Amino acid sequence: MALVYLGLGSNMGDREKNLKEAIKALDSHEHILVEKVSSLYETDPVGYTDQDKFLNAAVFCKTLLTPNQLLDYLQKIEEDLKRVRTIRWGPRPIDLDILLYDDLQLNDEPRLIIPHPRMTEREFVLLPLAEIVPEVIHPTTGKSIEKLLKELREGRP
Ligand code: ATP
Ligand code: CA
Ligand code: CA
Repeated sequence: MALVYLGLGSNMGDREKNLKEAIKALDSHEHILVEKVSSLYETDPVGYTDQDKFLNAAVFCKTLLTPNQLLDYLQKIEEDLKRVRTIRWGPRPIDLDILLYDDLQLNDEPRLIIPHPRMTEREFVLLPLAEIVPEVIHPTTGKSIEKLLKELREGRP
């Protein structure tokens, strides 16, 4: 079983319902076990800022799926929740990102990069993740999630 950490976001429609349905869909897969779900955090949009606020969460799962199989399934959930891909970083009912997959470092650009390349710069990712697994080590930097969050907040590298 691989230990995986996912980042979830929604800023269209009933955001809480979208997040809960995505988590239910994750747990319904026979090879995915949802272990921990963070609180839901309301955050301002980053990147393309002319859009509604997001609701973000992090999930810790165990899975027998490979990274690519997991990404396929996340994209299926996004499609099922009727995500229309328009503007990158734009509005969406649900966004599911693989943040960490064990201590794997993978660069299969552009389809799949693990750890998620922008996670260390994003408080909306680190904050929910630090709530559920503060001690987990981010393999690229060798730092814990808690430490990365603290450094981001203090504006250090
Ligand atoms: P960001 O990646 O900056 O959070 P985004 O989530 O808005 O932006 P998407 O449009 O959801 O970007 O995804 C673009 C592509 O990123 C996807 O089609 C997917 O193949 C690729 N991708 C690369 N690495 C990952 C990852 N770790 N998790 C999810 N998707 C990834
Ligand atoms: Ca994302
Ligand atoms: Ca995404």
